[in-house]
Amino acid sequence: MKLLGLIGGMSWANTIEYYRVINQMVNERLGSWNSAKLLLYSVNFEEILPLQNNNKWDKITDIISEICMKLEQAGCSALMICSNTMHKIADQVQKKISVPLINVIDETARVVRAHKIKNIGLLGTKFTMEEAFYAHKLKNNYNLNPIIPIEKDREYIHEAIYNEFAKGIFLEQTKKDFITIIKKLTERDAEGIILGCTEIPLLIKQEDVSVPLFDTLKIHIESAVDFCLNK
Ligand code: GLU
Repeated sequence: MKLLGLIGGMSWANTIEYYRVINQMVNERLGSWNSAKLLLYSVNFEEILPLQNNNKWDKITDIISEICMKLEQAGCSALMICSNTMHKIADQVQKKISVPLINVIDETARVVRAHKIKNIGLLGTKFTMEEAFYAHKLKNNYNLNPIIPIEKDREYIHEAIYNEFAKGIFLEQTKKDFITIIKKLTERDAEGIILGCTEIPLLIKQEDVSVPLFDTLKIHIESAVDFCLNK
């Protein structure tokens, strides 16, 4: 089994889930007392968030690249950044390391395509929903048609991610509001929904809605486990 490196803490709420699901998946596949070999570098989100909000992505690239280099030096064979938003800088980070950085956008797009879905709803932070790095990649590299919520809903989702989920708060009313937003996307012909933020799968489950959900946390982990077990 290869050693996996995780860059977590963005936020800690999803990183607990990454740790749990990775181990569970390895154990389901190998049985017995098998669990994942991994190193976790969990950042202080307070040091990252203001940089995101002030558009200091070069500084973020430096911080994350340095962490990735440390994990590579420590013997990791593959790395994963446990956040969709932070994939804005994934291509630059990948250039600085020689082990693969498993890319959540590419992996998710492949799974959506395998479901023969073209019109795909996209939920995430405003960075993820509005900036080119996510939607353009889905469109240009995978021929998908991403559909994002209207501005007021994008604002609501973004605030809920940072002010609730990233602090470990998951409210029943917020869940209802997310389900309403998903319904609006399906009325605009979305055939499925990418939960493009690694906290959203902690709030919304497949049984809550009638369209297929693409849980980026789970998809990301599945690829990483495949890689580490040579599947
Ligand atoms: N975990 C989130 C994501 O998947 C957002 C937190 C962040 O800004 O990195 O996009």
